[in-house]
Amino acid sequence: MKKYQRIVVKVGTSSLTDENGKIALEKFNSLIDDLANVKKQGYEVILVSSGAVGCGNGILNITENTGIAQKQASAAVGQVQLMNTYANGFEKFGINVGQILLTRTDLYYRKRNINFMNTLNELLKIDALPIINENDSITVEEIKIGDNDNLSALVSIISNASLLILLSDIDGVYDDNPSKNPDAKFISVIDKIDEEIYSYAQDKGSKFSTGGMFTKLQAGEKVTNAGIDMIIANSSVDGIVSKVLNEEGYGTLFKAQENRINEDTRWLLIATDTKGEVIVDEIHEDKPIDLSSIIEVKGDFEIGDFIKVRSKDLNSSGRGVSNYSSKDLQEMLSLSKKEFDKKIMHDYLYPSLLGLDKFVVKKEQ
Ligand code: ADP
Repeated sequence: MKKYQRIVVKVGTSSLTDENGKIALEKFNSLIDDLANVKKQGYEVILVSSGAVGCGNGILNITENTGIAQKQASAAVGQVQLMNTYANGFEKFGINVGQILLTRTDLYYRKRNINFMNTLNELLKIDALPIINENDSITVEEIKIGDNDNLSALVSIISNASLLILLSDIDGVYDDNPSKNPDAKFISVIDKIDEEIYSYAQDKGSKFSTGGMFTKLQAGEKVTNAGIDMIIANSSVDGIVSKVLNEEGYGTLFKAQENRINEDTRWLLIATDTKGEVIVDEIHEDKPIDLSSIIEVKGDFEIGDFIKVRSKDLNSSGRGVSNYSSKDLQEMLSLSKKEFDKKIMHDYLYPSLLGLDKFVVKKEQ
């Protein structure tokens, strides 16, 4: 059996455009050949592609973006060329492409991300290639994800992928920016992303890049915490995606963290549309939250709603699916200790507020 089945591939602007920011057709063609080959090997592939602004700038002969509206206009023009290039290229292999443009709200709200997931699943079922990008021509700051590294991480989590591949203009992560420090050392495996790893990535890449190595590490942190591997590899190596999947020695591997979060509940890591909040004594990652530890209940929610739980010292919080409605919990709080102990033995179906399998804990920053 293959180690990975569903993979998300993200390609950066620098891997699709030339040094002037214009579309580089040979780079597109090499990526298209590679992905078509990987699809033929039976992998389910989702592509997150940057490059819309770069393509638009190229068409409009813009060398430097001066304002948000101009950048958004470039994105609108460039997105068409981007998709045309992909559609024409994949047509040769009999592969249909489907475009999905997203904003943050499409990912963070459970209902919308279910719709997105359904669309993705359907596209994969009919063997099409979903191509995703942030909807740059309408996204204002408040609803922006901001960069496609983080976007591709969220897409990997929502789509239950087992691997995210970030293709860039570099072989992987070095202990310093190699374009500035020729002595920087290559790192082939990263077990855990910590402060030291982040300290390697203070520099942005080219003037066309949005995030450099920093946003790639953020993406790595998101996916590995959700139990997904990530690899950063060089898009200029011929057939790189196929090589990463079938051979060793390419790119930097970020290892998935041991995780008890199953695939059905990964979305809890990113969804934010909680219906209410419950304050409790303490939160421990590996312990269910006892009903007896509840101190305060805020908001109106029903059984099965997605809620936030916070420790009274505010040091940690979690999110999960509530076993009880806010009304039930308020009623519990009004009981005397004796009444509560009696009810918990006989009346309450679940001993804990949230099922452990439906609960993720986050340390507050
Ligand atoms: P993309 O457009 O492919 O997303 P970016 O240009 O945003 O790529 O990011 C890759 C660039 O990040 C590299 O070309 C390099 O200049 C820069 N960089 C900064 N720090 C590091 C590091 N520690 N290791 C590797 N690359 C780094």
